[in-house]
Amino acid sequence: MFRQLSNKIVLITGASAGIGEACAKIFYQNGNHVILCGRRLDRLNKVKEDLEKQQQKEANKYKVLAVEVDVSSLDSIKKMVSNLPEDMKNVDVLVNNAGLALGTDLIVDIDSGKDLDAIMDTNVKGVFRVTREFLPGMIKRNSGHIFNVSSIAGSMFYPNGGMYCASKAAVNAFTDILRKEVVATKIRVTNVCPGLVETEFSLVRFSGDAEKAKKPYLGIDPLTPEDIADNIYYAASRPEHVQITTIETMANNQASTTVIHRT
Ligand code: NAP
Repeated sequence: MFRQLSNKIVLITGASAGIGEACAKIFYQNGNHVILCGRRLDRLNKVKEDLEKQQQKEANKYKVLAVEVDVSSLDSIKKMVSNLPEDMKNVDVLVNNAGLALGTDLIVDIDSGKDLDAIMDTNVKGVFRVTREFLPGMIKRNSGHIFNVSSIAGSMFYPNGGMYCASKAAVNAFTDILRKEVVATKIRVTNVCPGLVETEFSLVRFSGDAEKAKKPYLGIDPLTPEDIADNIYYAASRPEHVQITTIETMANNQASTTVIHRT
């Protein structure tokens, strides 16, 4: 059953790369207005440009905004929200996707200052705070869909993943509680838990070391950002009475964070 979700305002954090960029494409291509959020405005503008190129034939029907925001900073989030044009403020679909991992240190070795702050401020507080900005409007309008991009790492913990796993476990808890708190409304809340997806995620995790970054994807056909965007769009486009609560997706040869068959 193919259904289309269109004419909605969709705000995506981390839309300058990977899963967020793929989400921007699928929502836009299906006729939605998209707000692309991230720190690298040049990359967001490139995504915007690519989307708008496709649209030229369709007489500029759908809007694309590229908005600079650092979700690890409350001030930056507040500024982003207050600068949204009036006709784009009532966000219908919020995709809390921005996130990162830094390193694979054992807990005994982790940088409990800068790195821990960056992960928790982005992956956890960022999701809480961006949601906090748009939830009151959704409650008032009695509609909306919130996607939190967590990870299988949020429930399948592994040594060397301390900071990241803990951050995604917090996202799982937050998402579950949020769904319970809005149960009397028409707002839908979906937790998205991907396994290995080939994006810039690994490059960020290993501080730009391309050799190390390739390793997790060797000998396996990993998921693509488009696979996860397809999951998200699928859930968003179900009839209103259908709430897909959790989407857990892995590559065919992955069975958990640690059980992976490589050839
Ligand atoms: P990616 O290609 O590195 O993209 C990450 C996005 O997050 C970028 O657009 C980045 O944009 C944005 N971002 C990071 N920190 C930010 C901040 N402080 N403020 C605003 N935006 C920020 O990685 P990805 O794989 O698409 O990751 C997307 C989400 O999927 C993350 O939450 C990640 O934990 C989750 N995930 C990924 C995998 C995987 O295997 N790749 C698996 C499970 C879950 P800027 O740098 O421009 O700010």
